[in-house]
Amino acid sequence: MNLHEYQAKELLASYKLPIQRGVVATTVEEAEKAYTTLQETTGTKWCVIKAQIHAGGRGKGGGVKLAKNMDDVKEHAGNILGMMLKTPQTPGGMDGAGKLVRKILITEDVYYPNPETGEMDTNEFYFSILMDREKKCNVIVYSTEGGMNIEEVAEHTPHLVHKEYVHPHLGLQGFQARKVAFNLGLTGAAFKSMVKFTQAAYNAFVGADCSLIEVNPCLKTSDDKMVAADSKVSLDDNALFRHPDLAALRDVHEEDPTEVEAGNYGLNFVKLDGNVGCMVNGAGLAMATMDIIKLSGGEPANFLDVGGTADAERVENAFRIILRDDNVKAILINIFGGIVRCDRVANGVVDAYKNIGNIKVPIVVRLQGTGAVKAKEIIDQSGLAVHSAITLQEAADLVQQVVG
Ligand code: GDP
Ligand code: MN
Repeated sequence: MNLHEYQAKELLASYKLPIQRGVVATTVEEAEKAYTTLQETTGTKWCVIKAQIHAGGRGKGGGVKLAKNMDDVKEHAGNILGMMLKTPQTPGGMDGAGKLVRKILITEDVYYPNPETGEMDTNEFYFSILMDREKKCNVIVYSTEGGMNIEEVAEHTPHLVHKEYVHPHLGLQGFQARKVAFNLGLTGAAFKSMVKFTQAAYNAFVGADCSLIEVNPCLKTSDDKMVAADSKVSLDDNALFRHPDLAALRDVHEEDPTEVEAGNYGLNFVKLDGNVGCMVNGAGLAMATMDIIKLSGGEPANFLDVGGTADAERVENAFRIILRDDNVKAILINIFGGIVRCDRVANGVVDAYKNIGNIKVPIVVRLQGTGAVKAKEIIDQSGLAVHSAITLQEAADLVQQVVG
């Protein structure tokens, strides 16, 4: 589960990581109030208006604007709220439809000159923590080349991207945090600040069961403090039950609506780009089904695990969700009857087919296991455009024939 920047910053701050402070707003009036509040509480002169969507590269798409006075705040807040923000990371990229901005974050300006010397001396670094499955370690990835596209830095100047592997049982050692600060070329107060920053981020990563913490830019201010000027946090879904407060931060607006609906029905659904819809019980069988569709020259339109019960209601919900995708030219139902009886599933399929009505795509059903023979009879005698198959290969070949 992904968090918004403002949620991620709050989480990191609760682990004592220094952040660029901000207030969330959903209207221009709230943005004006937020600016006043920030001026009073942080002493900031200017502020930054930042669109809150689950995608990076907002700066490039016009979703991050500096405001130097109240008129600027009104103008930028008005423009950004409600806009369809396109960034290289929103669906379809800069040519796509973009994402609707429902919330903005008004933050203090952390790119200020040194209060004593008046000099601008900021540095933008890249900092992230994630898991390295091959090394079986957590890894801190960091670079002096922050602010911009880290993928480009990694491609063209890979020696500028550093990695520090952290053993999950030993945890982050003091020397490792100091190494990060050293390799970023920091000295004095900034060095000490970066050591604490790294430790706080690692504590947050472990404490909140994150799968990713990314701070870009991690900013060295002109007066040598390290702050998270941006942040992206992904939480491990399998550990969310341990963090009900974090689970409550979910924003369903940012998720695929069909996937959210499928989740409400207890279906495990992931949309893909192919033309063969799949309805399968069990995640392993669903993966195998997708493989065999591909091997037979087709492309799966989705992953769908209907779960152990596969009753008539679930089958019907699954049908409706698959059929919502116009790309689907055929549906392959592959159910193994272990606990669930195949004849019951077959009746469920026939009932669902009739209930929905007007199904234009051919359906291939493979029911194996308990009650399979009876199930095949039910399908064959239904008089519907439903083809039955015994082996998985037969089913995949049939699908290929009907898709053409
Ligand atoms: P992203 O484009 O979605 O990654 O959003 P960021 O939060 O990284 O912001 C994009 C850019 O806005 C940063 O790289 C900075 O150059 C700029 N920015 C962010 N915070 C401030 C700030 O406090 N003051 C100023 N002047 N610029 C900022
Ligand atoms: Mn950023």
